[in-house]
This record gives sequence, C-alpha cells and structure tokens, in this order.
Amino acid sequence: MSDVTADRLQSFGTTIFTEMSALARRTGAIDLGQGFPDVDGPSEVIEVAARALREGPNQYAPARGAGELRQAVAEHQRRFYGIELDPETQVQATVGATEGIAAALLGLGNPGDAVIVFEPYYDCYAAGPAMAGLTRRTVSLRPPDFGLDVEALRAAAMSDPADSDDRRPARFLILNSPHNPTGKIFGRAELEAIAAVCREFDLIAICDEVYEHLAFDAEHVPLATLDGMAERTLTVSSAGKTFALTGWKVGWVTGPAPLVAAVAAAKQYLTFSGHGPLQQGIAHALAMPDAYFDGARDALRGKRDRLCAGLSAAGLDVLRPQGGYFATVDIRSIGEHDGRAFCRDLPERAGVVAVPVVAFYDDEAVGLPLVRFAFCKRDEVIDEAAARLAEMRGGS
Ligand code: PMP
Ligand code: GLN
Repeated sequence: MSDVTADRLQSFGTTIFTEMSALARRTGAIDLGQGFPDVDGPSEVIEVAARALREGPNQYAPARGAGELRQAVAEHQRRFYGIELDPETQVQATVGATEGIAAALLGLGNPGDAVIVFEPYYDCYAAGPAMAGLTRRTVSLRPPDFGLDVEALRAAAMSDPADSDDRRPARFLILNSPHNPTGKIFGRAELEAIAAVCREFDLIAICDEVYEHLAFDAEHVPLATLDGMAERTLTVSSAGKTFALTGWKVGWVTGPAPLVAAVAAAKQYLTFSGHGPLQQGIAHALAMPDAYFDGARDALRGKRDRLCAGLSAAGLDVLRPQGGYFATVDIRSIGEHDGRAFCRDLPERAGVVAVPVVAFYDDEAVGLPLVRFAFCKRDEVIDEAAARLAEMRGGS
C-alpha cells in the first residue's frame, strides 16, 4: 500500500531520535544521541512506585491525575518558584510533557491559529501544531549565542512574516527554557521582552520547563512568574529529566484554571489518564529534599564540563550550554559543513552517535553545521566518546 499517513503528518516522518537510537543499536556505537540517562533515577522513588504496583492503586487514576501527584506538583511550584496553585483546578497530569504540549494545542487551538516557536525547536513543537491544524511561525535564535531577536518576535506575533495573506496576530507562543538542543537559558531581560509581546498581542504562552532543575550557569525563571503572565501561561514539565526516569513519562501542566480546563478537555480523550502507580512514585520524588535537586544539577554540570572539554580537545567548536542535557558543536571547526551526513557517518568514523541539529530547523542553512551530543551519561562513557572523537577518521 502507498503511504497512507495523514497529510498533516507527511512532512514529519520518523523522529530523529528514533532514527539515531536505531543507528546506535545497529552499529554498537556509543549513543550520545537521544537524551536519556544511562543510570536510573533514585531507588527510593522506584521503590514507592514498585510498592504501588504491588499493593495498588493499579486501576485508572483520575483523569486530572492522582490527588497525591497534583498536590505534590502544586507544592513543588510553591517551594521552588512561589507560584500558588489549586491542585484541583490548576494542575493536570499528563503522559509526559509531550502529551501536555499536544493537549494544550488541541484543547485551546482553533484551526488556522498561529503558534510562534523559537528555532532550533524541539521536534514536537512542529508536529504538535500540525496535528492540531495550527500554523507555525518560526523565530530564529541565531548561533553562536542563540540570542533573542525581539523585533522578529514582535513581527511574528503581529502577522505571518512568511505569508502576506495572513495578517492575523498569533495566538500561542511556545517557550523552552532551559532549551533543547542549545542549552540556552532565557535570561530575565529576554523573558521580560517575551512577556511584553505576549501581553501586547494577547498570546497564550506554553512553557516547556522539563529541564527546570538542570540550570547550571543561570537561574531558571518561569515565565509564569513575570507580571501579567500567570493568567496567560501554561507551564509544562515532567519527571523524566529531573529524576532520570525518562521511560516513566509522567508529566504535568499547570496554569490558570480556565486554560488547564481546556488542556483537560483534550487530554481526557487522548489517554484519559496514564501510569497510575508511577504517579505515586513521582509524587514522592517531587517532595524530596533540596539535596536531591542540587545533587542532580551539580552532577550534570560536571558532565557538561567533561563533555565540553572532550569535544574541544577533539577540535570541535562547542557552543557551551548553560543548562539541560546537551552540548551543540559547529562542525565547520573540523572542516565539515553537513551535520546530517556527519551524524550518518559518525558511527563508522568514530564509533559515536550524535544528533544533527538541522532536524530542529526550518532554516536549514543555519542548522546544517550544528551537531548535538548528550552528556547525561556515565563519566567513563563521556570520556570514551571524547577519546574516539579525538581519533576520528577522515570523512567519506
Ligand atoms: N520537551 C523537551 C524540550 C524535551 O527535550 C523533551 C524530551 N524529553 C520533552 C519535552 C519530552 O518530555 P517527556 O518525555 O516528558 O514527554
Ligand atoms: N527529549 C529527547 C531528546 O531531545 C528525546 C525524547 C524523544 O525521543 N521523544 O533527545
């Protein structure tokens, strides 16, 4: 049968993460591609979930999420950011941040509404709007510092800069900080500028904060804490990165009750609820002492430094990340220019897998020479990958 995939998904194909993980399995190369840790998160969290699996609850969690999880999310937002939430109406549990973002777009978007995304963008910020029948307006964060162009953002909020027939203001903006793939942390001045545009054009902000606890060099400031933003912001996060449990896919969306109700309206028909026993584990995890969160961040900071040093030693020009799981390099520093071809050949040339950042770009010319390496791996794995890159054979 010919390809029967719906038109709205045709351009997306298989995700770059699936492709690169398959390449790693096929070649046995060190996998610094898809972002997942190679050591699981805290055993006490796994133990709480295991107890829930043994003793229950093992039936459907409420569609809004287990009460324990919603309470723990509300308490977490108060403890770390001073955000007050009613766990009954202002917290929605989701199957990972991915479902949270999709449910926000499906629950609030009307066909043709425009969504502003910053590129490079995490892949589901393109596929999510497409599935919801929304259009994407892309604003570039330009290497090497991935700074924000406020005028470009204002222009995209006002009307579609790429389509002179579309004079409608945008409706949504997706912000990811700390940012995947660049590791950029949006500073206060940039956040103030973004908030001003959101207020001026009445945008709803969808903030993906899955790396909120992996901010190394600057403070993570939720956009929702800025003036006039709480009422127009949905904050999305998940347990995967913070607790090194990416396979659990326990996530949540928080915000004002009417916006969260719209997310819930869509979510109930996507999965209704998910992973009841694991929600119990994450409720416990979110309440762990500061020492856990500080320790996890400091360990990842050390890995960031380790990988960046190794990449530099291999002659790669590193665009140093301030947070998150990934370091991006510009391969022009080693005489290459095509990140896609480079990543395809890298297992053969060096026994390492990485991700071509061009997969997160509309403007391919800018993204083409950029390549992303994950550092959420054991030190010896990082060191071995760096050593192999330093020994890399010439290109084909
Ligand atoms: N947003 C960003 C920026 C990510 O890097 C990821 C990858 N984990 C996700 C969302 C997806 O999160 P989850 O696994 O909780 O769906
Ligand atoms: N967030 C992970 C990454 O950026 C991938 C998660 C996924 O495969 N969907 O590598």
